[in-house]
Amino acid sequence: MLKNQIQFQRGLSLPKFLECYGTEVQCRESLQRMRWPRGFECPNCGHAGYCRLKQRPVLQCNRCKHQVSLTAGTVFAQTKLPLHTWFLAIYLLTQHKNGLSALALSRQVGVSPNTAWLIKHKLMQTMVERDDPKALTHLVQIDDAYWGGERHGGGTGRGSPGKTPFVAAVQLSAQGFPLAMRLDVLRGFRKKLLAKWAKRHLDQDTLVVSDGLNCFPGVTAAKCSHLVLPTGGGAASVKHPMFRWVNTVLGNVKNALHGTYHALKPKYLQRYLSEFCYRFNRRFRLEELIPRLIYAAAHTPPLPYRLLTADV
Ligand SMILES: [Zn+2]
Repeated sequence: MLKNQIQFQRGLSLPKFLECYGTEVQCRESLQRMRWPRGFECPNCGHAGYCRLKQRPVLQCNRCKHQVSLTAGTVFAQTKLPLHTWFLAIYLLTQHKNGLSALALSRQVGVSPNTAWLIKHKLMQTMVERDDPKALTHLVQIDDAYWGGERHGGGTGRGSPGKTPFVAAVQLSAQGFPLAMRLDVLRGFRKKLLAKWAKRHLDQDTLVVSDGLNCFPGVTAAKCSHLVLPTGGGAASVKHPMFRWVNTVLGNVKNALHGTYHALKPKYLQRYLSEFCYRFNRRFRLEELIPRLIYAAAHTPPLPYRLLTADV
């Protein structure tokens, strides 16, 4: 449906983006189409006739005069910014392969760093929630991964202090090509936590391939099969063909995060990981990333500041 509404070329150029979303009226119309794909219907009386208010993003029913905010109930709720600022931020955040810091975003869209931080975190949280229910299936490689802590010296190896653990999972095609991935922060690599993670994020009957870390058999609690590859640890294990993708992906995500963000608080790590996955999982449909993220934001409940900054 969305695909036919707005036709894009692969990899959307800025002029093309501005042609589609350059004005406030275009952005309001686009959001309206996404919220009411079968046409507007007054929530008060069911009437389909309406008029648009000029000053605010509000539709007014022609019969009962009930007013409906275009942004109420969405991630854009109660925003003081024009929608075209939001949409430009969506364009910039989705088209940069390695992500864009809030500071860079603030310079490019012309808002304060605090406002840019809010836009970025609301959109990243939208990505977290969008991909959360999408389970991986068939053949999935998993590995343990860690973010932060000491990069040199004492703190190397699994579970060093100050590091935030997360599980890296890549779904492969029968030909061994990566189709989708998840990066999920875990409280630790314990069997029980892996079982809980697998029940939530893997389909039953998935074949899970991992090394011999003793928490990984936990995935069988989610009715998955588990295959342990003998690796022996060290550099040789990284070269094992079955581990090629999960290691490539982990290297890419770590480089992207180190290159783009100076300091990344552990409590926000999930959002940065999900942002990376969101782009990776849609990398063959770059031109659709923008309308899809607008659609997701239009169908994600408002994310007030206290929720955005809550400890997880
Ligand atoms: Zn009405």
